[in-house]
Parts: sequence; C-alpha cells; structure tokens
Amino acid sequence: MTDAELRRRLADNLAAVEARIVSACVRAGRQRDDVTLIAVTKYVSIHVAGILHDLGVRDLGESRPQELWKKAAALPATVVWHLIGHLQRNKIDKTLPLVSYIHSLDSMRLLEAIETEAARQNRRANVLVEINLSGEDNKTGLPADQLQALLAAATNLPHIGVAGLMTMAARDEPEHCRPVFAALHQITGNGSLRSMGMSNDFEVAIEEGATHIRLGSVLYDGIPEENLRT
Ligand SMILES: *Cc1c(COP(=O)(O)O)cnc(C)c1O
Repeated sequence: MTDAELRRRLADNLAAVEARIVSACVRAGRQRDDVTLIAVTKYVSIHVAGILHDLGVRDLGESRPQELWKKAAALPATVVWHLIGHLQRNKIDKTLPLVSYIHSLDSMRLLEAIETEAARQNRRANVLVEINLSGEDNKTGLPADQLQALLAAATNLPHIGVAGLMTMAARDEPEHCRPVFAALHQITGNGSLRSMGMSNDFEVAIEEGATHIRLGSVLYDGIPEENLRT
C-alpha cells in the first residue's frame, strides 16, 4: 500500500466508524458530542497515529506507558493523550506530564503513588478507576467491591481528580456486554465519565451511556500489517 492509499483507507475506516457512532447516538437519544472517540494506537507506528490525528482524531490512547512517551514526543502537542493500560509505579513520573487522563487506576497503592508524584510535580492527575465488572472472564481492574473505599480515599488526596470509571467487557458478543456497560453507567452516575466500549462492542456501549469509547482494530481494518508498523 502506498502512503496515499494508507491515508485513504484510514479516512474511509474513520468515516465508517463515525457513521456507526452517530447511528448509535441517534438510537440512544444522545448527542454526538457526548461521546469521545479515543483512537487506540497500540498496534500502529507513530506515522499511522499521526495520520489519524491529521484526519481529525484529537484523542489518542496507548496501553503501554513507554509507547505513549515515544509517540507523545514525536506527535503534535494538540494530541490529547489517554493512558488506557496498566501503569507501573516507576513510570508515573514520566507519564503524568503527558496524559490528560489515566483510565487504568486499579489499586489503592497506585492511587497513593500517583498522588505523591502529582504533588511533587505540582499538578493534578485526572484518573478513571478501572473496575472489573465481568469477574472471571477478565483479570484487569479493581474488584467492584473495593470501589467505595478507593473513592473515599481519593477524596482526601488534593492532587487526584477522579473523573469517572472505566471497564473492559469480556470479548464476547456485544449483547452479552450490555449488562456490564449498564452496570458501569449505574455505578458512575451521569455527572462523570464512563470509558467503555471497544471495536467489537462500542455501539452497545454508546447505547448504555459511554462517554469515551476506545477503538483500535476497527480503525485498521483492511490495512496490511506492514503498513501499520512502518
Ligand atoms: C487494545 C485496547 C482497546 C482497543 O481494542 P480494540 O478491540 O482493538 O478496539 C481498548 N481498550 C483497552 C484498554 C485496550 O487495551
């Protein structure tokens, strides 16, 4: 694929995804502006991530801190970065200045470590608590029964802003994910962010109240692996 073909294909994929987002919003009686598309760039090169941003995707998400640092250093400062994967405590210092949101706060220990580093850097960290609502099928996230204690602890930490909740549904038929998304909406309430929905289930997530959907593979449909990596 030439670079022009790559751009064309990414633009087409993005347009198809956008149409599906709009339809889901219409079905749910929601405004398009209520849903932020985060393009997950973990499978792709800096070049491809940059094309997505050029095509108008403001928000990019990475699951590995080191990959986020690398892409953030190379891409325009207009990118709004989201860390969506696990944050190791020794990577907090370099990650905090780069990201608008950390979607993967999953323990009290990490909460305290982020507070300490945010205080040292004199900034406020915006976090979403990742909770595990699908039990056995999914190993990531804070067990839901520990959420209240974590939120209570966070209210006493001046450099932490809990913006909302994140969850990952098991990779399953979208309709099977619906109860998980509905539960996240119910627990979060309407005033906060709800980061839920991936390529296979984002329409159901929008119908159930997602404010942020995290899409990777659907954006890269039909693009050969070698074009994504270079
Ligand atoms: C990879 C990833 C995504 C995107 O997954 P796709 O199925 O490729 O859309 C979303 N959220 C998290 C936390 C991820 O790690």
